[in-house]
Amino acid sequence: MKKLIYLDNAATTKTAPEVVEAMLPFFTEHYGNPSSVYEFASESRQAVDKSRETIAKALGASKEEIYFTAGGSESDNWALKAAAEAYQAKGKHIITSKIEHHAILHTAAWLEKQGFEVTYLDVDENGVVKLEELKKAIRPDTILISIMFANNEIGTIQPVKEIGALAKEHGILFHTDAVQAFGQLPIDVNECHIDMLSASGHKLNGPKGIGFLYIRKGVRIRSFVHGGAQERKRRAGTENVPGIVGFGKAVERAVATMEERTAKERETRDYLIDRVLKEIPYSRLNGHKTLRLPNNANFSFQFVEGESMLIMLDMNGICGSSGSACTSGSLDPSHVLLAIGLPHEIAHGSLRLTLNEEIEKEDIDYVVDTLKGIIEKLRSMSPLYEDFMKKH
Ligand SMILES: *Cc1c(COP(=O)(O)O)cnc(C)c1O
Repeated sequence: MKKLIYLDNAATTKTAPEVVEAMLPFFTEHYGNPSSVYEFASESRQAVDKSRETIAKALGASKEEIYFTAGGSESDNWALKAAAEAYQAKGKHIITSKIEHHAILHTAAWLEKQGFEVTYLDVDENGVVKLEELKKAIRPDTILISIMFANNEIGTIQPVKEIGALAKEHGILFHTDAVQAFGQLPIDVNECHIDMLSASGHKLNGPKGIGFLYIRKGVRIRSFVHGGAQERKRRAGTENVPGIVGFGKAVERAVATMEERTAKERETRDYLIDRVLKEIPYSRLNGHKTLRLPNNANFSFQFVEGESMLIMLDMNGICGSSGSACTSGSLDPSHVLLAIGLPHEIAHGSLRLTLNEEIEKEDIDYVVDTLKGIIEKLRSMSPLYEDFMKKH
């Protein structure tokens, strides 16, 4: 089998072997329902409790503030819809940004249909939310600000601490989608004045289909799923015990390895960025040079069609992405790349490569060498490129 170079870790990650190992007994031996009273079920109950504690500790939260969900999308939906409903007597205005994940943007659009008003903040050319614009957007009827911790396409890290301080000063709830940041960056919900935070297991070497919403004590928010008393009656349904155990293990691992792992990723990523920008003409890096996730590189190549580039990379065993996994398959250019001001034709020639700690410089050498060949070939077939070269 030819070598697989997986550079799409923003879409999902490999479940770590120790995570799988921690989960297995909860399918086979300890399958009791955590809500049952007999001794046999206490193993499941304790495991869920331990996971909740590990996760809370990683955020500086308390375990009563962690609510397990089925993933990042559910957490985002819950935070926005339930906070909107709970606080609508105070006002119906919500602030978010133009570069959020679709789990936020489509929920916000749905809320607009329900009579809420949403301000979508512009970002600067690097994808950073402008604090001045945020200040101007705040109104007496603003009830919620939802700004992501770090962007899934271009990796830009937002000034979350400043946003949280502004929200607090105005008595507005602050939610952050930290699905990409959690496990890659240190996060403290108190230091950043975060009232709600979404995260997902499968983005940090945990299992798919498990996530959580952190809800600060005192935040009034309606239940998302009605039924049993699980998750303090706010999200009913028998717990996904193996998923919760795996998530807890993944968080434990992510916290323990964060410094070393992200240092290596940063170095390898910067090597990738340097080689691409130096060796491939008419290329650019999208997103902020330093305020970016340790594992994210996002490029645009002029006179290249993104989908063709991805297919040719795939033929060489390289997994990359043109934007987010959710938008691939559609031919619209990424809303994030348009929001940072890229023209359509350049946004179309974009490539996101997201690393993990197993990627070595030799892998990057193979990727860059392959990519150079692909781009040369695609450009040689492009009439636009031919015209351009005649004029230059
Ligand atoms: C992946 C992702 C989500 C969705 O998480 P799921 O667990 O796949 O539902 C939400 N927001 C961001 C920023 C993401 O990267």
